[in-house]
Amino acid sequence: MKIAIYPGSFDPVTSGHLNIIQRAANIFDKLIVCVMVNAGKNPMFSLEERVELIRRVTGDLPNVEVDGSNELLADYARRRGSCVIVKGLRAGSDFENEFQMALVNHKINPELDTMFLTAESQYMYLSSSMVKELGTYGVDLSDFLPQEIIPDFQKRIAQKNQTTQGGK
Ligand code: ADP
Repeated sequence: MKIAIYPGSFDPVTSGHLNIIQRAANIFDKLIVCVMVNAGKNPMFSLEERVELIRRVTGDLPNVEVDGSNELLADYARRRGSCVIVKGLRAGSDFENEFQMALVNHKINPELDTMFLTAESQYMYLSSSMVKELGTYGVDLSDFLPQEIIPDFQKRIAQKNQTTQGGK
């Protein structure tokens, strides 16, 4: 059974992420979407919340499992019996960084390879950070986020705005 892992921050999961999940789930027998802890980022949603949001939008994909981990990705993949990491590639700007990570992961775990799926043109420019930026200005997000999670996202933006304004 070919098991692939799709790692990321997913803060929150966007329509671009979901597109990669759907396509990778068609290629592999099983796809594990893993929310990874990134110490350098201060997330809008907790790890558990991000896992729950992804579960909600992938409920119709029977071979997709959603998990969270603070392990090293190469160790996580070994533990889960996977030898493939799936990543989405947007513009050339993703390439440099992703290439470096793929080499490092392969060095740490030589059985592990990274496969890239190119972003669909309508999602080329889309990132979680851009969605968070747009959200603060009340822009319509239906082209950027899966419909089922928009209310959660708007609620969190409103809470953040309240905290910021309350702090002034
Ligand atoms: P973001 O840059 O949105 O914060 P993540 O750290 O959650 O992204 O990214 C996880 C993976 O998803 C990475 O491989 C990233 O290149 C990919 N990805 C992010 N946004 C898109 C998109 N719009 N289309 C395709 N792949 C994407």
